[in-house]
Amino acid sequence: MRNLSLVSLSALALAGCAASNAQPASTVAAAEAPAAYAPVIPKGTGIFAEPSTLPFQAPDFSKIQESDYEPAIEQGIAIWLAEVDAIANNPAAPTFENTLEALERSGSMLSRVYAVFSALTSANTNDNLDAIDSRTSPKLTAARDSITLNPKLFARIKTLYDARDTLNLAPDQLQVLTLTYENMVRNGANLSDADKAALTEINSQLSSLQTEFGQKLTKGTKDGALVVNDRKALAGLSAADIAAAEKAAADRGLPKGSYVLSMQNTTQQPLLPSLTNRATRQALFEKAWNRSERGDANDTRALIVKLAELRAKKAKLLGFDTYAAYSLSDQMAKTPEKALTFLESFAPALGAAQKKDADDLNALIKKQGGKFTVTPADWDYYAEQLRKQRYALDQNEVKPYLEITNVLENGVFFAANQLYGLTFKKRTDIPVYHPDVTVYTVYDADGSELALFYFDPWKRDNKSGGAWMSNFVDQNGLTGTKPVVFNVSNYTKPAPGQPALVTWDDANTMFHEFGHALHGMLSNQRYPSIAGTNTARDFVEFPSQFNENFMTEPKVLANFAKHYKTGEPMPAALVAKIEKASTFNQGYALGEVMTAALLDMKWHTLPAGSTPSDVNAYEKAALAALDAKGLHTELVPPRYRTSYFRHIWGGGYAAGYYAYSWTEMLDHDAYAWFKENGGMTRANGQHIRDTILSKGHSQDYSVMYRNFAGREPSVEPMLKARGLK
Ligand SMILES: [Zn+2]
Repeated sequence: MRNLSLVSLSALALAGCAASNAQPASTVAAAEAPAAYAPVIPKGTGIFAEPSTLPFQAPDFSKIQESDYEPAIEQGIAIWLAEVDAIANNPAAPTFENTLEALERSGSMLSRVYAVFSALTSANTNDNLDAIDSRTSPKLTAARDSITLNPKLFARIKTLYDARDTLNLAPDQLQVLTLTYENMVRNGANLSDADKAALTEINSQLSSLQTEFGQKLTKGTKDGALVVNDRKALAGLSAADIAAAEKAAADRGLPKGSYVLSMQNTTQQPLLPSLTNRATRQALFEKAWNRSERGDANDTRALIVKLAELRAKKAKLLGFDTYAAYSLSDQMAKTPEKALTFLESFAPALGAAQKKDADDLNALIKKQGGKFTVTPADWDYYAEQLRKQRYALDQNEVKPYLEITNVLENGVFFAANQLYGLTFKKRTDIPVYHPDVTVYTVYDADGSELALFYFDPWKRDNKSGGAWMSNFVDQNGLTGTKPVVFNVSNYTKPAPGQPALVTWDDANTMFHEFGHALHGMLSNQRYPSIAGTNTARDFVEFPSQFNENFMTEPKVLANFAKHYKTGEPMPAALVAKIEKASTFNQGYALGEVMTAALLDMKWHTLPAGSTPSDVNAYEKAALAALDAKGLHTELVPPRYRTSYFRHIWGGGYAAGYYAYSWTEMLDHDAYAWFKENGGMTRANGQHIRDTILSKGHSQDYSVMYRNFAGREPSVEPMLKARGLK
């Protein structure tokens, strides 16, 4: 999922007024604002200058023109900067209202246009929109940086922060103040001018090194493709795979009779389960494993040493021992030690499962006359045979029970009704950006209007891959706006006249993305910067993954999984087969992710000045330490090796890859709480709505979780769900 609202671009956020729950004014010093203070804020023009007049302030796609976006973004930035400038230069002493709340109200035009614009550049783009995006995004970044590092603004916030205990703030106000202050400090606002300059220099070097890493890895992955000159070596591949390999060779200008097996970003390669020739498997795996370590121009190891050291230096400058300590300080886990302890806690169970799975695979190899034991290059080939033997699951057997509107309305919506009392009504009077998009009004349990929900399911050439949720309009207690939320995905559109059937995984994705949508729609916060999905990386996937659990709740499944022709329910034996298959090979699946997460942590818990120069030796030692805890990394290597771990070196997920497993722990633990407390009831739904789903980031994440579960989350339910316990 992606959240592209301005709130997520900066903790310094947005718009708008709820007199009903206003708290008493709080001042640091009882200074009077001179009456003459009247900052000049430019006025916007065009369709985004004012809120839409449609229900829920939904964007009016019947009137918005492509030519509206760029001027509106530019005006929106100018207005935002002027508003923030007025806050920073206010001669009155800082108060929560004239500083933090004013910041929360600032930038409303920009957030209005950007929410729509960024939705379209992801879901329904074209060259013109992409070009506008390229022109405007540096301006947006510059505006955000200038606000985050505005010394006068920071001085006001710091004054308030230092006096926070005497201000008589409401809990949500204290949270907004604390997070805004901390975010500015994390970005360098508290540094001396010399250190600010040093930080800017490090950031700029990091940014170009990360780009360089990405480029080297892309080239290394392309060059690392396996070239095969003997068709027999490709035995086991489908005719389509062979044709693709032939075409890839021709595209590279290789002579006829050559085949190119292109490489995917992971360690394991999608063709490995099919290749019957062991030498070809080994050659393909070796290519993948060493793609970035060939001592050529695409070798990434020297870059990695530089990146790790620079990040450690940045952390030190900002007052943290390591980059991981810096990166996790605003996450639920809070410290690298906590994340590491979590990851290592399931090494023994994982290791035992890996050993058992390897024994099964070795028995199969022996049975087939093989004189070797399983290696990572063989793992998927034999695992796939076992999977077929044990489960024989055919997607075409499942799909007739998964008609998309039925899954949505009688599955996803039904679960939300049972849990949260929500009801849904399709409406056709709200303009959409593409005819495939449908819109629903979401009603709360008391019948009042809660939100608008847009659903854009089908794959299009002008849509980014994957699935995500975001908002057109954020829930905002200050302005009283209600959430306008959308889910976008890439399911295969049926041919005209054919039923719209989706796969089991697609249906699961629908529940997942709707979990994000619920997090946005059930939000009930006064301040937009702490509302809805504006939460940490290791928390934001919790509501979405949690919602997946309800797809297989018997009463939900029985309500939607019906044959599209006959209306017959999905046979119990088929459901059982699907559920059993979901625990197959999990020692590998979880193991490769956990090992990658540990490598990520190992590289980002190095203090400045201690980064090793030998990438391979450091990686080897890190993996050996895992094996000492019971894992079998020689059989289940990391999903991404250090030298091709784009998530952490190319940007985004440095010291954050653990978040995938962390949120999975939360989701299973929360579902276990439901089971312990009477299951899928309206009361339990209300409880998680009250403690988690309505709360945004208005409280510390661990406090929210304890308020929900009455205890710390445990890893046991995740291991059970994965069949590892
Ligand atoms: Zn998600």
